[in-house]
Amino acid sequence: MSEFQSSWELYQQIPNDLDVEMEPMAPCPSFTDAANDFDRNIPRICGVCGDKATGFHFNAMTCEGCKGFFRRSMKRKAMFTCPFNGDCKITKDNRRHCQACRLKRCIDIGMMKEFILTDEEVQRKREMIMKRKEEEALKESLKPKLLEEQQKVIEMLLEAHRKTYDPTYSDFTQFRPPVRQESDKGRTSRSSSIMTPGFSFSDDSSDASSFSSEPTMLSSLELSDDSASMSIDFSHLSMLPHLADLVSYSIQKVIGFAKMIPGFRNLTAEDQIALLKSSAIEVIMLRSNQSFSLEDMSWTCGSNDFKYKISDVTQAGHNLDLLEPLVKFQISLKKLNLHEEEHVLLMAICILSPDRPGVQDTALVESIQDHLSQILQTYILCRHPPPGNRLLYPKMIQKLADLRSLNEEHSKQYRCLSFLPEHSMQLTPLVLEVFGNEIS
Ligand SMILES: [Zn+2]
Ligand SMILES: [Zn+2]
Repeated sequence: MSEFQSSWELYQQIPNDLDVEMEPMAPCPSFTDAANDFDRNIPRICGVCGDKATGFHFNAMTCEGCKGFFRRSMKRKAMFTCPFNGDCKITKDNRRHCQACRLKRCIDIGMMKEFILTDEEVQRKREMIMKRKEEEALKESLKPKLLEEQQKVIEMLLEAHRKTYDPTYSDFTQFRPPVRQESDKGRTSRSSSIMTPGFSFSDDSSDASSFSSEPTMLSSLELSDDSASMSIDFSHLSMLPHLADLVSYSIQKVIGFAKMIPGFRNLTAEDQIALLKSSAIEVIMLRSNQSFSLEDMSWTCGSNDFKYKISDVTQAGHNLDLLEPLVKFQISLKKLNLHEEEHVLLMAICILSPDRPGVQDTALVESIQDHLSQILQTYILCRHPPPGNRLLYPKMIQKLADLRSLNEEHSKQYRCLSFLPEHSMQLTPLVLEVFGNEIS
């Protein structure tokens, strides 16, 4: 009994679906017919005793009791004798009374001993199930998962970004107003604006069309003397006051965002300032991608007044050495279709760069940045579906490298610009503090 008991217990561990599936397919058609009936949800009655059946066991629909009885009897090679006439009617209540007639009934309804697994087969089956479970557990453990703490960091960054980035751009009306000058390509723009009613901004339509093809764009904005950035005609930087206010405002927002990055406030005030000073322009370029439109290659911040094209930025003293790679950067970043989670992580990683000039505790900055990078990689693995996730992390890191070159070019042009007092006086104290003041 104990031997059967143990194999019975073993058998109980085997899931039901396997129970049916593992038993050899019946050579006789009755099994398949019965299986079809089973599928059609016929009343599940034990063919031996009339009790509630649990499924097909050894080729017949039976209850658990009769299933066990048949297996035990077969394994024991039991020979039963009916104490009555040999034709006992087996019911749920009397099925224990006559083993001989119960077994005869089993065979009559098609139960076959060939369907019983041997001990070795049971053992093999158990090992297979164990192995499968282990494999599943391993697969599950190898699957990258965002830890609760990592999830929390992402939520804090999203919150920080939402508090510091207003997608309605309603504050822009408080800046000194933008003044757009008629550029020397006015010949075409004038005619096209006349032909396009509703466009009161004379250079809007022509610029939008010229930006769609790069050669036109470059030639139309080509400076007469491109030997040096100093060659910019600084005499009419009409957009400088507005864009200086916009940049100053953006620096404030970047500072606000940085302060909410988990770990940033653990740095010394000196290191916080060093990081912000060198990363501010990069983060401004990164966050401005949210307003950048691939359709007209402009930064669209609400109304037409606050729609910025390359020509607007040249009217603030920057030239194509900066603007051409900047627009290319915006296009390729836009095409990565980053999730907001990835966007905010990238900005945080950009700020927490240990190799910025003047940083003292590089180890601490590096550990915070490593942590953020880890979260970004895990996020991409878990949440960014293919094909967008392909090489996404290295592509994002490449964007950080691009930003370094843009930063360098910006510094160069800013130095030239701020060299003249009539221009630096248009800047704000915050801009002068962060980007440097050549006069003082
Ligand atoms: Zn039964
Ligand atoms: Zn009997």
